Amino acid sequence: MPAPAIKSLKGLREAEARCTRCPLYADATQAVPGEGPLRARLMLVGEQPGDQEDKQGHPFVGPAGRLLDQAIAGAGLDRSEVLVTNAVKHFKHELRGKRRLHKRPNTYEIDRCKWWLDLELVIVRPRGIVALGATAARSLFGRPVPVEKSRRRQLALADGTPVFVTQHPSAMLRIEDRAERRARFRQFTGDLRHAARHLSP
Ligand code: SF4
Repeated sequence: MPAPAIKSLKGLREAEARCTRCPLYADATQAVPGEGPLRARLMLVGEQPGDQEDKQGHPFVGPAGRLLDQAIAGAGLDRSEVLVTNAVKHFKHELRGKRRLHKRPNTYEIDRCKWWLDLELVIVRPRGIVALGATAARSLFGRPVPVEKSRRRQLALADGTPVFVTQHPSAMLRIEDRAERRARFRQFTGDLRHAARHLSP
């Protein structure tokens, strides 16, 4: 089935809101579309919305988003030149009492939602992409990509768009040791700086 003729981020947002291409829409509050300028130089692709993102309808507004914002600033990037989005647009979770716990999307869900990420790439045409974690990399390349081995290497999509792979910021939230967490944050910021340098005019 050909992709629908959507030419704007607003049109994309409206279409994603009606999506039933996989079962994840059923238990989520809403689809969470990408956000950023139409002509973003860099697209950052995460995994999926979290609890806060699902409730608020915006990507990267929870704890991982705050870390991402710090790293974007630390890398010398301006948030206004970056579009942030996710490989999967609905929040996958399981209920534990009243808490909604994150569940990693499976390959079927990632592949079904790639339809929207592909459209986003066609509309925005970023000069480069940063895959934040294994799910984003799996979505972009259609196969598993080892995150640690791929850091600071420049990969590319079939059309030549450069892709840089790094961890998802939520991985740092799970590190209890403060020194280790700081070190991982510096590494993460360095990965974003590395991507930004490659895209400098
Ligand atoms: S996760 Fe993606 S493919 Fe699945 S229903 Fe939501 S928008 Fe559609």
